[in-house]
Formats: sequence, structure tokens, C-alpha cells
Amino acid sequence: MYTITLIPGDGIGPSISDSTKRIIESTGVKVSWELEEAGIPAIEKFKDPLPQQAIDSIAKNRVALKGPLTTPVGTGFRSVNVALRKEFDLYINLRPAKSFLGVTSTFRDVDLIVFRENIEEFYSGIEHYIDAKKSAAETIGVVTRAGSERIVRAAFEYARKHNRKKVTIVHKANILKYTSGLFLEVGKKVSQEFPEIQCNDRIIDNMAMQLVLNPHQFDIIVTTNLFGDILSDLCSGLVGGLGLAPGANIGYDAAIFEAVHGSAPDIAGKDIANPCAMALAGALMLDYLGELEAASKIQTAIAATIQEGKKVTRDLNPNHHVGTIEMTDAIIEKIAAM
Ligand code: NAD
Repeated sequence: MYTITLIPGDGIGPSISDSTKRIIESTGVKVSWELEEAGIPAIEKFKDPLPQQAIDSIAKNRVALKGPLTTPVGTGFRSVNVALRKEFDLYINLRPAKSFLGVTSTFRDVDLIVFRENIEEFYSGIEHYIDAKKSAAETIGVVTRAGSERIVRAAFEYARKHNRKKVTIVHKANILKYTSGLFLEVGKKVSQEFPEIQCNDRIIDNMAMQLVLNPHQFDIIVTTNLFGDILSDLCSGLVGGLGLAPGANIGYDAAIFEAVHGSAPDIAGKDIANPCAMALAGALMLDYLGELEAASKIQTAIAATIQEGKKVTRDLNPNHHVGTIEMTDAIIEKIAAM
């Protein structure tokens, strides 16, 4: 029995969290869920977007599944997602982008994994206006040798463990000679410890173009925070959008699994959200816990349901669709038949 912290989130979060919980339980893996609030629901209840009891629960259980959380733009509280990453030093943001048969997209057979550095650089929140008139604003992006080394090593170790062939280091060392230059230098050095894995590097702008022209030339991508954020969404687009993109935030002491997409307030409460991204994040979580068979069952059942295209949400088949709950039931039916 695993004890796992579950933060349902807001917007479509509670609905897709419920689906994911049911899908995970249908594999036979026994989980005791510890329900915690964060974000807007937590402000309403505790006057704090990240209550201490949620932090304590994750610290104790070391594994959490999290629904999306709305972050107000411009004003209001800082991102809870960023705060959680910092609190638990979740330095790896792993985002797979894999094609599903039955999904309309430009490419087939895409199988990419982005390793994004999750703590440093422009997401550290070291920002200010230079004067009271707000005539300019500054941000400081710190890239450390240790931070670069551990994310690149994580990418290569993953490649070794999962028998992947190539790691591409993405940077802008031609212009950002110190920060991006340091990342590239460290990356190349770490790559020498993994002679069986091919390593190359690309400048970010060229990388964006190359990915759109021919994603099959890449395998694992490792990069700094901002580039990784943008490139991983680009990779989701290559396989048909955010509705199928899971993500994992992993550190030495804790890991938090979530969908890449946000709280989708435009479709919240209507039973139309696609539950797959979060359910696939659940599969990543089971994989992380060593429950490989259960993880594979979820991935296979989702792939089969999407390929059939009969019981899928509106984003996957605008002409013939069902709701979140019915698609979840269809996935669970497939798992039960395995
Ligand atoms: P979004 O990902 O919530 O939505 C973008 C578009 O995709 C919308 O049209 C939405 O309806 C659609 N969409 C998203 N998920 C879907 C799903 N499962 N099924 C069907 N359609 C789906 O991005 P946004 O609108 O830019 O952000 C909304 C809020 O979410 C913001 O406050 C943002 O800060 C937050 N956010 C949170 C996370 C997180 O918690 N990890 C990630 C990204 C954005």
C-alpha cells in the first residue's frame, strides 16, 4: 500500500484528478490518498496558497499527484507550482511527448523526452523594477555548475536506464556566453561519462526549427528552465496538443506528478476535459514507484481508447465525443480486460 498526497487543484483539476485516481486504482495498485489543498481552494480555506499541512504531507509521503492550479497573472500570489519545485528541490522536470495513433497531428511515431532544469535561471523570481516609475524591469537568471551538472546527468542516466540512444543539449551559448555557455560546457563534460550514448548540441532557435521540420532526429533533450518550458510545449504540439502531455517534477527527496496543461477555466465544471494527460502523469508516477506493469497497463489502455476514437473527449474527436467520466470508464474497462 502506497500513501500518496493528492492535490486535486482547481478548474478542471478535481474532475481529472478523480479520473486519474479511479484509473490508478483499477490497475490493482493499492493507494491510500492523502487529500490536500493548494492554490485558490487553499486561499479560501486556509488564507494561504501553499498551506504547511500540504508541504508536510508531501515531505512525509515523498510522492504527490497534483491537479493543475490557477496562477493569477500580473498580481496576486506567486505560482504555487514554482514554490513546490523550490520547496522540495525538484530539479528535474521530465516531459515525454509520444505520438498516439488516432490523434490528428502533423507527425507520426514521435517519441521525445524533454529534461528541463526546474529550479534555476529565469524562474528563480529574482525580479524588480529599477525605479518607482517602473521605467524598466530587471530579472536575474542564475545558472550554476552544480545545477547544470545534475540535470544533464539525470538525462543521461535516464537514457542509459531506458536504452535511449541520444541526448541533445540545447542552449544559447553563442549569445549568453556565461550562463548558457556554462550549461553547455558542463553538459559536454558529463556526456563523456556515457560513451555509449550519442551526444550533440543545438542552439535554441535552430532547435525549435529542427523540431518542427523533423522531430525524429531527436530522442532526449536536456536544457535550461525557460528553453525547456517552451520546447516541451512545442513537443506536445508535435504529438497533438496538451491534452496528452504528462510531466514529472523529481528531486532527491520527493517527486510530484502532474499534467503539463493548466486548469483550463474555460471548460471547468462541464465534464469535457480530457483526463489523459493527468492519467499519463499517474502512469509516470507508478513507473517511478517501480509499478512498471500497472504503468504500462494505463498507457496501453489510453492508447487503445484513443485509437478507437469512440469514447474520447471533444478535443480528440470534435464530431463524436463523450464526457470526461465516460472516457475514464472506457479506459478502466480496457484495464479490467487486460
Ligand atoms: P491551459 O493549459 O489551462 O489551457 C489552454 C487551452 O487548452 C484551453 O483552451 C483549455 O481549455 C485547453 N485544455 C487544457 N487542458 C485541457 C484538457 N485536459 N482537456 C481539454 N482541453 C484542455 O492554459 P492557460 O489557459 O494558459 O492557463 C490556465 C491557468 O492554468 C493559468 O492560471 C495558468 O497559470 C495555470 N497553469 C497551471 C499549470 C500547473 O498547475 N502545472 C500549468 C500551466 C498553466
